[in-house]
This record gives sequence, C-alpha cells and structure tokens, in this order.
Amino acid sequence: MQTKVFRITDPSLAGAELQEAADILRAGGLVVFPTETVYGLGGNGLSHEAAEKIYAAKGRPSDNPLIIHIHDPAEADKYAVTDQLYNRLAAAFMPGPLTVILPKRDCIPYATTGGLDTVAVRCPDHPIAHALLKACRLPIAAPSANLSGKPSPTCAEHVISDLSGRVDIIIDGGESDIGLESTIVKIDRDETGEYLTLLRPGAITADALACVCERVVIAPAVLEQLKEGERPLSPGMMYRHYAPTIPLVLLDGTPKDILAFLKSEQETKPCAILCYDEEATELQHKNLFTVGAREDLATQAHTLFAHLREADKTDARIIYAHLPPRDGLGLALYNRLIRAAAHTIKKI
Ligand code: AMP
Ligand code: MG
Repeated sequence: MQTKVFRITDPSLAGAELQEAADILRAGGLVVFPTETVYGLGGNGLSHEAAEKIYAAKGRPSDNPLIIHIHDPAEADKYAVTDQLYNRLAAAFMPGPLTVILPKRDCIPYATTGGLDTVAVRCPDHPIAHALLKACRLPIAAPSANLSGKPSPTCAEHVISDLSGRVDIIIDGGESDIGLESTIVKIDRDETGEYLTLLRPGAITADALACVCERVVIAPAVLEQLKEGERPLSPGMMYRHYAPTIPLVLLDGTPKDILAFLKSEQETKPCAILCYDEEATELQHKNLFTVGAREDLATQAHTLFAHLREADKTDARIIYAHLPPRDGLGLALYNRLIRAAAHTIKKI
C-alpha cells in the first residue's frame, strides 16, 4: 500500500487534505492523525472491518480494545450510555487527555471493543484531530499509531518508521504536546455509591480526578506486575509495552548515589542513560539522553518515548533511567517506565 504523508501546520489552510483523509475514513481506510497525547491510528469506529484493519496494521491482538474519538463530549451518548459523572468529567476535562469507559451501545461493533460490553470514549484537544473528526462525521476508533509493543509515537517520523505501507494517510502535525497516552478511567458503582477506577494514569492526574469524584481507586495493574494468568481491567495493561529491545533498568536511590553509579557504569560497559538535565555535565556524552530537569515531569513525559526509541538505536547493551515518583504526573511516567523495564528496578 502506498502511504501518503500530509504535513499540516494550520488545519484552516488544509481543507483539501483533511477532506481527502475524511473521505478515506468514510470509505473504510486508515488515517494516522496527531493528538495532544500521542499519534492515533484511526479508522471508522462504527465498522467491524475498519477495526480489523487497525489490528492488522498494528500487529495488535484483537482482544485489546480501541478508543472511540469524538469531536464533542456530548456525542458520547450516541455510542455509550452516559451518566451524570460522565457529564461532570466531560465538563472538567474535555476536550483533553481523558478517556472514559462506559457501557457501549449497539452501534459500536464488538471488534472495536475487543469483545467487551464497554467502550472507551475520548474527545481529543488538538486542532487537526478536531478538524478531521468534524470533516468525517464519524467517531474515529484509534489506538496509538505504533507497531504493537513499540513505544507510542510522539512525532510523524516514529509513525512513518512503524506504519509506512500499512496505512493510507499519515497526517504530520509536529510533536505531540503531552507525549504520554490519555488517562483512562472507568465509572463504577457499589453499595456506597459511584467511584472511578483509574486504569491508566496520564496527564489528568488522580488528584485532578478526585476534584470531580471523591473516590478514585487505582487499578492494581497500574503499579504492579500481574500474576501469571491474571487479566487486568484494561486489556492493554496485559501486554509488554513501550519496550525497547535493549534491556531497560530503573534506578532507585539518592541522587548522589545514582550519579556515582552511572559514572562508574559508563567507564565499564556500553550503556545508554536517560539522565536529568542537572546530571548531564558530570556524565560522558556518548548515548546520553537528557530528559528534562529533575522536577520538570511535563518535559520528561514529553520526551520519554522519543528517548526510548533513540536509546534503542545505540550500541548500548543496557539502558538506565531514573525511577520516577508515584505522585501527580509522576504516576504516568512510573507506569510507562516500569512496563518498558519489565519491572526491573535496581536499588542503589
Ligand atoms: P492505546 O490507545 O493504544 O493505548 O489503546 C487503547 C487502550 O485503551 C487499550 O490498550 C485498553 O487498555 C484501553 N481500553 C480501550 N477500551 C477499553 C475498555 N472497554 N475497557 C478497558 N480498557 C479499554
Ligand atoms: Mg498503545
């Protein structure tokens, strides 16, 4: 398949390209589009065949469901059974990096939801995604636009290297702003009332969610390795993910001890290091990737997946990174990094 790449900086000047992409989606084709989180691999969310094409293009198991993207939060009710808590979440965080799991309506095929009776709904906050959704007049089903198992793409070059020849159109809209996938929550109820289960942490933090819903429960798979045969609430958490092919090890210790360890490792073995800006001058520059200042979690999130891809291209035999804190945006970084590292943490 020949893949067209459209570079779009201003969607108001790209009407013809966006219409062509919208027509491809309506005709059952695949279009990669930028969002504020990561790039999405989109197809018609109402079509069984389009969902199957998405799984095939990604090389993704078909029990790992897709997210339905909508241009207006109020549209969710066409595809899912919404409730008051959904409305409060939408008012607080949409458009934005939040995905909500709701009971699905019949128009959403089981192929899209990986066989589940629930559907994931998100309204992205990106002018190109918004313009494409409006032009195609469809909900767009989209997982991240990487080959299954690779880090999510945060710029068009990542998408081109993974999916060229596998999709009809790639829309290049520059670097993703946030750089980590959306926060996913499920609305649940028990005898004491409604609550949110956090299935995947992202830029909408647990603290921010708690301002809208008092009870936020973090799903075990966010922090811990699943036991053999255990199924997570969010199927995506089951798969090894974001993973470089070179082993990644996360370092846990005081700043001083970690710096001393990294210096000595650089002298004795070929390693790649994701270090804080503050450490860069003290380390050798070969295979060194500065992730942002120690306290600047937003920059660390923005650069993480690109650095994992770059570190994986080096001649290193091992990649080291810091174990992030577990609060605020740190929880999202922690969740992606422990999975990329297959839970390998080294105490220094
Ligand atoms: P991706 O955008 O590539 O991370 O893929 C979407 C992720 O959303 C999947 O990996 C699932 O973990 C999650 N997801 C989508 N639909 C559901 C659902 N109905 N229930 C729970 N998790 C879901
Ligand atoms: Mg993904």
